[in-house]
Amino acid sequence: MERRNFIKNLGIGAAATIAGRNSFAGELIKSTASTMENFNTHEFPALPYAYNALEPYIDARTMELHYDKHFRGYFNNFINAIKGTPLDNLSIEKIFAGISGYGDAVRNNGGGFYNHALFWENLTPKSAGPASDLASALTKAFGSLDKFKEVFSNAAKTRFGSGWAWLYLTSEKKLEVGSSPNQDNLLMDISPIKGTLLLGLDVWEHAYYLKYQNRRPEYIDAFWNIVNWETVDKRYKEALK
Ligand code: MN
Repeated sequence: MERRNFIKNLGIGAAATIAGRNSFAGELIKSTASTMENFNTHEFPALPYAYNALEPYIDARTMELHYDKHFRGYFNNFINAIKGTPLDNLSIEKIFAGISGYGDAVRNNGGGFYNHALFWENLTPKSAGPASDLASALTKAFGSLDKFKEVFSNAAKTRFGSGWAWLYLTSEKKLEVGSSPNQDNLLMDISPIKGTLLLGLDVWEHAYYLKYQNRRPEYIDAFWNIVNWETVDKRYKEALK
C-alpha cells in the first residue's frame, strides 16, 4: 500500500472506530430511515450523521459523549426498567400517556431516550429554512419566522436547570412554544402543557458545556444554523392530519 493511502486509510479507520458500532466499511454513521416514524422502543437508533458533522456549532467530542454515553445510558436504563413488566409490550407513546403510574426510572430514562432520538433528527449539517407551509404557519402564529426563533430561544434560555425547549402542535392544531424540565416531554400525562413534538432543543449542560461552558445563549444561537427543517416540516404535516 502506498504510504499516502495507508495514512489516509488510517484516518478513516480512526474515524470509524470513534463512530462505533454504527459505522460500516469506513463510512461514518448515517441512516436514511426516520427513527421517529413507528418508533421502535427496543432499538438503539443510529445517529444520522458523523460526530463532527455539526461543527463548528456542536463539536465532535460533545456529540460523541452525548450520543454514545448519555443517550445510550438512557436507552439501556429504560430497557432495564421495562423488562419483564407489562410496559415491555406498549408503545413508548402509550407509556408516556400513563407515565405518572410508572415511577421515576421509566419517566426519566424513557423521556431521555425518546427526546434525544427526536433531537438527533432535528439536527443536520445541511440546514435549509422551513418549507413554505410551515413558514407561513409559524409567521401566522408568532408574527414572523424571526419572532418565532426569539420566542423559542427565550424558552430555551429561561428553562431553569436541565430540560428541553419545544415547538409543538396542540390538539387544537395550534403551533406553540414551551419547555419541560429534566427529561419530561409533552406526551407525558404529568406535563402541564401537551402536544405533538415538532422541534426540540436539549438545554442540559451536557449538550453544550465542553464548547460553550456556561454560555447557554451562544449554544442556542448556534442551534439555528443546524436545524433540520425538513423533519420539522414532516412532523408538522403528520400532526395536522
Ligand atoms: Mn442530552
